[in-house]
Amino acid sequence: MTTYKAYKFRLYPTKQQRHQINKTIGCTRFVYNYYLNYQTKKGYKKSKYLCQDLKNLIKTYPFLEEIDSCALRCAIFQLEDNYKLYLSQKSNIPNFKKKYQKQSYKITYFKPTHITKDANIELNIEKQKIKLPELNYIKIKGYKKTTKINGDIISITVTKELNNKYYASALYKEIQKQEEKVTPKTIVGLDLGIKDLITTSDGIKYSNKKTIIKYEKRLKRLQKELSRRKNKTKNYCKTKLKINKLHIKIKNSRKYYLNEIANEIVNDHDIIVTENLNTIEMMKNKSNLSKYINDASFITLCKLIEHKSIQQGKYYYKVDPYYPSSQICSHCGHQNKITKDLAIRSYICPVCNRILDRDINASLNILSCGLVQHYQK
Ligand SMILES: [Zn+2]
Repeated sequence: MTTYKAYKFRLYPTKQQRHQINKTIGCTRFVYNYYLNYQTKKGYKKSKYLCQDLKNLIKTYPFLEEIDSCALRCAIFQLEDNYKLYLSQKSNIPNFKKKYQKQSYKITYFKPTHITKDANIELNIEKQKIKLPELNYIKIKGYKKTTKINGDIISITVTKELNNKYYASALYKEIQKQEEKVTPKTIVGLDLGIKDLITTSDGIKYSNKKTIIKYEKRLKRLQKELSRRKNKTKNYCKTKLKINKLHIKIKNSRKYYLNEIANEIVNDHDIIVTENLNTIEMMKNKSNLSKYINDASFITLCKLIEHKSIQQGKYYYKVDPYYPSSQICSHCGHQNKITKDLAIRSYICPVCNRILDRDINASLNILSCGLVQHYQK
């Protein structure tokens, strides 16, 4: 089975290298925006045509000559991908890239056919360094225990985060041998929610982590501080940088926490069943909850669980989003419409008189659905 896997490294460029990276980012953004503008005026053109036109653009703007041409072409391919999504109505029309966002550029791996010539990218994980076009070797940090990545490198994306740190994400194509499937002994159903992030059918509840909530309070305070500052002054920029750093901190600690939960669940169970969440639909219906739905990163969590289950030869199932998991009594099957009200946390089933915890009951129903799916296969 072929899989694609990204390895992310922190980069430690010298002052000169930082300068070159920033220049490349700026120029790729220029090319992207130039051809986006061009296409909005003259209609969609294939990347093949635009790549040919790039030669003229470089003649008009000679500063582009100092940049690795592969990076410039990649900007065109990225534009094409975004444009195709728009044309197939899967996303909005591509936006112009702005200077004050997370910045990045991509280069694809290329090895000249001539034996004496080196490839344009060289990643040495053991010596913790990477060679990129126009940049020579840059010190990297990450995956210290790995000595070699078994696979073919496809591309590198160099990113400058809003906290002014640099990263490289290396995409590898790997041939993975199919993990042997385990004989399932344990099964768990997961109910995803806003009050508790996850409730398992074993009765365990994972809440939103307190540190993340603490950071979010600090973020609110800083945003208030920013609103008092005058735009583009020194103090404004200082606060802005603090906010950016905190945003990244929140993102990372959330990612870490979700990974921790996913590991625990997949390690402890052989069949895992979740709801198949349609968060975009959810956000439309319950707009006041949308912030929390977005925050809880349900989709990320489900993807992590799915990925980890496949890796360990376990089973992962998703339940139809329209299945009324919180309305049905997991004991007698009676459907109770009053539970549509999210405020009702527990209730007594009018038919079998059992006291049902809303979330645990839902997770038990999800579990049964998963069992049906597993044995129908
Ligand atoms: Zn009942």
